[in-house]
Amino acid sequence: MKVLLKAPAKINLSLDVLHKRPDGYHEVEMIMTTIDLADRIELTLLSQDTIKITSQNRFVPDDQRNLAYQAAKLLKDKFQVKEGVQINIEKTIPVAAGLAGGSSDAAATLRGLNKLWKLGLSMDELAVLGAEIGSDVSFCVYGGTALATGRGEKIEHLPAPPSCWVVLAKPLIGVSTADIYRRLQMNGVSHPNTAGMIEAIRQQDFTGVCKNVGNVLEDVTLNVYPEVAQIKDQMHRFGADAVLMSGSGPTVFALVQHDSRMHRLYNGLRGFCDQVFAVRMLGERHTLD
Ligand code: ATP
Repeated sequence: MKVLLKAPAKINLSLDVLHKRPDGYHEVEMIMTTIDLADRIELTLLSQDTIKITSQNRFVPDDQRNLAYQAAKLLKDKFQVKEGVQINIEKTIPVAAGLAGGSSDAAATLRGLNKLWKLGLSMDELAVLGAEIGSDVSFCVYGGTALATGRGEKIEHLPAPPSCWVVLAKPLIGVSTADIYRRLQMNGVSHPNTAGMIEAIRQQDFTGVCKNVGNVLEDVTLNVYPEVAQIKDQMHRFGADAVLMSGSGPTVFALVQHDSRMHRLYNGLRGFCDQVFAVRMLGERHTLD
């Protein structure tokens, strides 16, 4: 028996850090939305009691470091599952890019194993379990568009943002999220207007969305990796309506409404950037499988 799943990447339309908590995590306010750039996860039931990870991508760990492995292990231990699973990850989402690739693979594994192992859990229950694996996993269980608070695990669903193209570019570096958070100095950061972004999404106001994009981690990453700032400049030059770094980077995305501008941006960036994608947002919370 096999289950095939799509594990889409996310971008942050806004990312704010409110303060550092006594437990070491940061209290965040993030508006996230899934995009049509996805890994494909294939789960195959094994009669032996093992979890096996395979992937063609050499940057994807094939052991307990893999978040999809951790998702399977969590369900196995919690529900005393005796069967095993082989998890094949066909990677399209760039690794360590600020696009939550690993978290989305873990979320898809939770959804898929719920079926394969006949656990009968609700999406809400899967999202709660997801938070034990990583802060972005709860959001990835649902996909769509949401406000994530707490350390990222409290999810409030939002409507689809106004329709537009998302052009993403990732320079050849990988960024450690933990390292960027460590470097973040809270005094003096300029906070994005989260309420303004939510209102713009609700009003389907594309100009408002563009005006309110913001990410408190952006300056931290730009300081360490000047190539990220160069990509931002290029995107502005090629006519992007808005430009922002996703998560802790290094991927930068541009929002554009017109097809002709999307082509201009895409072709222009491919000249000097390793990985470039032009995709649509997936919109509202949806059936991913
Ligand atoms: P986030 O935005 O949630 O911080 P990210 O997109 O920056 O995530 P990932 O692509 O999830 O980063 O990878 C971060 C690290 O996690 C990688 O260096 C990799 O070793 C590890 N990892 C664990 N599981 C996976 C997976 N399924 N796919 C990719 N990387 C994984």
